[in-house]
Parts: sequence; structure tokens; C-alpha cells
Amino acid sequence: MRLLVVEDEKKIAAFVRKGLAEAGFNVTVCHRGDDALSLATTERFDALVLDIMLPGRDGLSVLRQLREAHNTVPVILLTARDGLAERVEGLNLGADDYLTKPFSVDELIARLRAVRRRLSGEGLSILKYEDLTLNLTTREVRRAGKKIDLTVREFALLEYLLRTPGRVHTRTQLCEHVWDYHFDPGTNLVDVGVQRLRRKIDDGHAVPLVQTVRGVGYTLKAGA
Ligand code: CA
Repeated sequence: MRLLVVEDEKKIAAFVRKGLAEAGFNVTVCHRGDDALSLATTERFDALVLDIMLPGRDGLSVLRQLREAHNTVPVILLTARDGLAERVEGLNLGADDYLTKPFSVDELIARLRAVRRRLSGEGLSILKYEDLTLNLTTREVRRAGKKIDLTVREFALLEYLLRTPGRVHTRTQLCEHVWDYHFDPGTNLVDVGVQRLRRKIDDGHAVPLVQTVRGVGYTLKAGA
């Protein structure tokens, strides 16, 4: 899930970024309202976490502009404790939810997942290929009905592969989309990550699903 976090208090922004990244979200942070509006207009995000008091342009104005442009990206507002009027205005403008400062990152994550659940509908939140299922809501992974425990990163990797079974992804693509590194980390981190996932998914099953395409990368595909 790709998020834009807009918060001018750098300490809060850094803390939120860290917490969300650890939970497997792909996070972009910006500190100004005008920058947020241009980013949200030019790039695709799955949700915005939007502070209200911002330099450049306030959060409610960003939200109003987006909705006037028929941009329906889910928005969670960050509001002051005594900000009843702005919360009401935000919800009227089309915010999906709000959080009152100070808030915990765990609560923000729960709200983000709830927003996604409401938007996707339960049925759409299950990715399936062959006898492998991944539930985006409960974060449960099963193969042939048997539950598989994955780390946050393994889950993100499998989610990425499961969205396009059969498509071959290069190490660079996986590095960018799953690890969120936009540079070559100079290690075999992707290979190690894929091997770990493969052991958990394929060991004990006759048909392997995680495939190496020699010299290119990896794909999710049933076959020998
Ligand atoms: Ca602020």
C-alpha cells in the first residue's frame, strides 16, 4: 500500500514514516501543503495521511482541491485535539477518517487498513493463485489450506508477486517495489528474500510456485 504522509513537524513525520515502513507500507513524506497537492495530483497513492495545519497550503484546502478535481484517494486527516470544527469540515469535504493528535502509529495503521477494507470489499481483499491465498485484511497466507507465517517483508514480496502471476520481475523492480530501495543496495538481498519466501511457500508441495527466471528475475508460476 503506497502512502503519502503530509506532516510539517519533522519529528512526527519521521516517527510515522518509520512505523508505517516497519508495517510494510511504502511511504512518501512531504512537509508542505502545496507540495502534497502536486504530488497527489501527479502520482498514484493508495491513501493520504494529511495534517491540517501546514505551510504552503492547509490540509483542508488540499483535500478540497483534490475532491473538486474528482480525486477519490482515501484521506485520513490529522487534527488537533480541540479541532472539532475542522474535523467536521474535513469529513464534509470528503475525508475518509481522522485521527486526533497525539496518536499512536498502531492506531493509524488500523485506520488505514479499515479504510482499505471499506473500499476494497472483503472479497477483493483476497489474492489467490492456484492453491495459494493471501488475505490483505487479516494478513493470513495459506497454501492448500495450511497457514503459512511470513515476515512483513515476505508478505509484501508475496503480495507483489501475487498481483501479477506469471509476470517476470527483475531484481531491480523487486528491490524498488518491495524493499523500497531506489538504489542498488549492492547485496543479494532480493535473492535471499525470495529464497526464504520460496522455502515457506513451496517446501512440501509437489508443484513449486516461486520460480527463478535465469538471468532475468523471479515470477510466481506453477510448474517444475
Ligand atoms: Ca502541522
